[in-house]
Amino acid sequence: MLGKMMHRPLLISHLIQHAARYHGDTPIISRETDGTTTHSDWATLHSNSKRLANALTKLGIEQGDRLATIAWNNRRHLEIWYGVSGSGMVCHTINPRLFPQQIIYVINDAQDQVLFFEKTFLPLVMGVKDHLTTVKHFVCMTPPDEEVRAQLPNVIFYDDIVDEQSDEFEWPELDENAPSSLCYTSGTTGNPKGVLYTNRTTVLHSFGISLPDSISLSATDVVLPVVPMFHANAWGLPYAAAMVGAAVVLPGPNLDGHSLANIIDEHKVTLAVGVPTIWQTLLAAAKETGTKLTSLRRNVIGGSACPSSMMRTFRDEFDCETMHAWGMTETSPLGSANQLKAKHSGLSDEEKLTVRLSQGRPPFGVELRIVDAAQDNKLLPNDGQTPGNVQIKGYWIVDTYFNCEESALESDGWFDTGDIATINEDGYLMIRDRAKDLIKSGGEWISSVELEDIAMSHPSVAMAAAIAADHPKWDERPVVIVQLVPGAELSEKTLIDHYEGKIIKWQIPNAVVFVESIPLNGTGKMLKKDLREQYGNHLIERGLID
Ligand code: AMP
Repeated sequence: MLGKMMHRPLLISHLIQHAARYHGDTPIISRETDGTTTHSDWATLHSNSKRLANALTKLGIEQGDRLATIAWNNRRHLEIWYGVSGSGMVCHTINPRLFPQQIIYVINDAQDQVLFFEKTFLPLVMGVKDHLTTVKHFVCMTPPDEEVRAQLPNVIFYDDIVDEQSDEFEWPELDENAPSSLCYTSGTTGNPKGVLYTNRTTVLHSFGISLPDSISLSATDVVLPVVPMFHANAWGLPYAAAMVGAAVVLPGPNLDGHSLANIIDEHKVTLAVGVPTIWQTLLAAAKETGTKLTSLRRNVIGGSACPSSMMRTFRDEFDCETMHAWGMTETSPLGSANQLKAKHSGLSDEEKLTVRLSQGRPPFGVELRIVDAAQDNKLLPNDGQTPGNVQIKGYWIVDTYFNCEESALESDGWFDTGDIATINEDGYLMIRDRAKDLIKSGGEWISSVELEDIAMSHPSVAMAAAIAADHPKWDERPVVIVQLVPGAELSEKTLIDHYEGKIIKWQIPNAVVFVESIPLNGTGKMLKKDLREQYGNHLIERGLID
């Protein structure tokens, strides 16, 4: 015998056991859907998740079964995550903002046995329940509630089934490749596709996001995952928080700027995580009330490109360091995060900001490459100039979508993300566009992300979406759809002049359309496809076709 190291499978139950044992009194604060706030901790969360595991076993749910949630970020939802995945079942988090048809589709596709839901989603559940083919138990995430029972007589109440169980439960020693959770992609075309994460990919991803050059999580942090638990598992934050023993503040349903500013100040949040639209409302609210969000040392922005003006505002007005991160549901989601290297230490603040505006470098565990997809995935240079399709491989990347026979990978094992980017010599990724959002003008392409960033650097612009509009001579030309800051005024000409000197002349948009509000999808991203359908003919209709 040459000797041997211990083999321990990488399991989600180990995360919660660790948090309960070594950080048992670290707070878990939760804004509930009824407006109250509950104060719990990792030890209580662990015992409640074991009680739930007992209750699920009693209901006859087995390892491998899928259980759905339609819920906000709150304590019961987190207990369900650990109770379900820890006992070898699969937690399927559903985006409540999907169309009812899509909700029916994903529940039936996943063959969910149980549906946990917030009381606020009762009308939604009532609307879809007769079309669900596999759900045996509807669990309302409240204490017993006669109003709910009156409408859904067989409903089970979460607090009932958890309270009546003991917290004596042995987490099973699963195979680390056992599936643990399931998220469907937002699916702008066709049906949503399920990504089935495993215990192993989740634990490795938790190490990956906690690293100092990722989001540098520790037991001194108070973490606020604003990103919903149904959006790529809240980017893995609630798992990583258990790994490092961070305190967690779960914001519940109210994600408006004032509620968030209030929760950050009240609970001394040190790190908050979410998409740019969330930060926009937070910044507006903070400016209104005058709070400086003093506890907030860092925030993570991902899901869409972080406007440079936003990063500057956090830095200059709130002394908060913004980390830009990139990823997708298929990548668990972390694909890259932006932290500086030692070689950047001598740079000026402005030069550092330029580096930090990119989506950053891959952490250990994933690799990125850019290729020319039109030329048989020909490898492109990492020169910071040449754009190509971003492809990824690694420890926590999808291989095959749920219920699909065919692999989602290219023939040589890489996953094509559908994003277009450059990568520079230091490995920093700069997303230029979604392949399908690119604007192709006379055979050359224009980055919609760059046009949006410039528009949003104008103080009157709250949100901007650059889209391709049809043009008889150039095929496509850029049009910017703009939502103004409330009360602000801005003319089309002033905004177009604002582009002068910031971008090559031929890339300047041909027109600006002002709208009340830019439509957003369920995860807070701009619905550019809808805008293209609505304004794709704008230049032809206005005769702007020179
Ligand atoms: P989802 O799976 O819904 O999270 O969407 C993933 C997509 O969001 C990616 O493929 C990107 O197009 C986009 N995305 C995510 N993070 C960023 C970022 N930091 N900058 C630009 N786009 C991003």
